[in-house]
Amino acid sequence: MNTSPTKPVSRQAVWQRAMRARGLCPQCGKEPLAPGLSRGLKCLVKNRERQRVMIGAVRRYGTTPSYVMEKGAKEARAARRKGEAR
Ligand SMILES: [Zn+2]
Repeated sequence: MNTSPTKPVSRQAVWQRAMRARGLCPQCGKEPLAPGLSRGLKCLVKNRERQRVMIGAVRRYGTTPSYVMEKGAKEARAARRKGEAR
């Protein structure tokens, strides 16, 4: 973050700070921040998958917060769908 007293703060940085202050994802501004993390879940997953391509990653580390939260969200969706069907 820019803490310099002489450097100007960009509009983008101002907007991102406002989103963080409101507890929203500073990347898309739509989803809530993941607890203890810097973005929302959707953007965490998007960034992760993009970076995996960039570095040519092969392994996946399932204990990483984005994987854990993704799994939890998927299960919650499945449970809701099951509830609706009956
Ligand atoms: Zn986001």
